[in-house]
Amino acid sequence: MAAKIIDGKATSAKMRGAILEKVEALKARGITPGLAVIIVGNNPASRVYVNNKKKACAECGIYSEEYALPEETTEEQLLTLVRELNERRDINGILVQLPLPKHISEDKVILTIRPEKDVDAFHKQNVGAIMTGDYEFVPCTPAGVMALLDEYGIDVTGKRAVVIGRSNIVGKPQAMLLLHKNATVTVCHSRTQNLAEITREADILVAAIGKLEFVTADMVKPGAVVIDVGMNRNAEGKLRGDVAYDEVAEIASYITPVPGGVGPMTITMLMQNTLRAAELTAE
Ligand code: NAP
Repeated sequence: MAAKIIDGKATSAKMRGAILEKVEALKARGITPGLAVIIVGNNPASRVYVNNKKKACAECGIYSEEYALPEETTEEQLLTLVRELNERRDINGILVQLPLPKHISEDKVILTIRPEKDVDAFHKQNVGAIMTGDYEFVPCTPAGVMALLDEYGIDVTGKRAVVIGRSNIVGKPQAMLLLHKNATVTVCHSRTQNLAEITREADILVAAIGKLEFVTADMVKPGAVVIDVGMNRNAEGKLRGDVAYDEVAEIASYITPVPGGVGPMTITMLMQNTLRAAELTAE
């Protein structure tokens, strides 16, 4: 049995079309959603992400502004810019591309963004809202995973879900979102004992580890839904996931490829959060 492929590119294109329609409707009411993206320094990966975010904004009819600041920008200069953007009525979302240079406190910067403009959902107020289930913004990657499950009619209610990874941006919020959807959730990490025994119990397995092709077929229950969040480069420099795709696809019921799975969804969910931030100003 070969797994069905969960197509993040197609799902993403469909969602962006729906976002564009909603943006047009808001524009007709005199509100243009606006996103400010701040990048500090010359990290090439960050540069690619920021360019993709700008492109997605254009595709969704969202106004975007980019602030490309030099590496030597001081913390106070960055905080001043964030405070200015907090006050702007035409900017609904503020995204500071991480990582920041070492001399700037990421925590301080994130906490300075107004929670209602924190479209990455990294501010503690938004993180807390995810715990209680009463949230407006969800971190983009876990939200993208949930949107994919939804698109493919995969109901997680009552199912065993195992998340490998406990980072604040992926693993933890992913576990919480699955829990809100009534899955029975286990979170694994680098200190987990007997990992394969646990992952083999999963009906839904989410890999967010950051280790090339770490999840092998012997770690997966036949018929499981396997979601690969990982983005790693293999020896040939090609983008690959945390899951050994070829062998796991033989036994899973559904699987996300890398590239073309979770990746395209992340930016789409950022567009969704920016739209939501603009809608909130109109409510
Ligand atoms: P991270 O902060 O480095 O967290 C990795 C997690 O994996 C940690 O909780 C770590 O456990 C766990 N881990 C590491 N080795 C392990 C092992 N041998 N067994 C079990 N667990 C292990 O990474 P992240 O930011 O969550 O990202 C994870 C991956 O997703 C990366 O490849 C990243 O590039 C990718 N990513 C993709 C997107 C996207 O848009 N598709 C977005 C964000 C991230 P400890 O906590 O014990 O250290």
